[in-house]
Amino acid sequence: MRNLSHILDEMADEAPRIRDAIAAAYVRLSPTRTAHRLYKTGDPDAPDVIKDRNGHVALDLCRVCGRAESLLSERCEPA
Ligand SMILES: [Zn+2]
Repeated sequence: MRNLSHILDEMADEAPRIRDAIAAAYVRLSPTRTAHRLYKTGDPDAPDVIKDRNGHVALDLCRVCGRAESLLSERCEPA
């Protein structure tokens, strides 16, 4: 029978890999929950390029990292 401290050492070695796998799965499954802060219609500082002709925000753009649309599935990390 293996001793307990050996088992605990193995678990500690695995922990970062398991944590990274869970984080990656979470981002894949929850693209809207990666903490981006999107411009909304009515935001006075929303850039004109993401608005339609009526002034409504028509394109998702993150005010923190500048990612837009399909790139929003990535983590919010300002460049
Ligand atoms: Zn962002």
